[in-house]
Amino acid sequence: MAAHSASGTIMGALAEGVQARIHVEAVNGRPVPLLCCHCEEPACVDACMTGAMQKDPVSGIVANEGNEQACVGCWMCIMACPYGVIVPKAGEPRIALKCDGCKDRPVPACVEGCPNFALVWEEVDACAAGKRQSAAKELVA
Ligand code: SF4
Ligand code: SF4
Repeated sequence: MAAHSASGTIMGALAEGVQARIHVEAVNGRPVPLLCCHCEEPACVDACMTGAMQKDPVSGIVANEGNEQACVGCWMCIMACPYGVIVPKAGEPRIALKCDGCKDRPVPACVEGCPNFALVWEEVDACAAGKRQSAAKELVA
């Protein structure tokens, strides 16, 4: 939200009514954030008939906005995504809305703004290294 608001802040985005690009589901009374994984083999890209949904070969970010091909709002990506993280854009004539990884920021705004550090943004190698450290600590605990 923050990255797509005029203010650039979460509070400003809430005040402006900016539509959320990540989602939080309640499971057994606990909040679970669901967001685009920018999949290695994105089902949404495969499903997109116009080519609007693309995975950037350098950044790995999957996005349908800012590309040469236009999104026509066929919703095939919505049906294909296994996580349900693409939604129709409110107030627009049939454009799909999803996390775009805050392409212009070094770290996505949701990760920067989460007060409980529930979200992380890291390369897959760093993720694996962190998991090895955790597993090793559990083995010697
Ligand atoms: S929108 Fe869904 S299918 Fe597409 S990259 Fe994100 S998680 Fe994967
Ligand atoms: S809604 Fe847009 S991005 Fe999604 S499959 Fe259709 S044309 Fe592609």
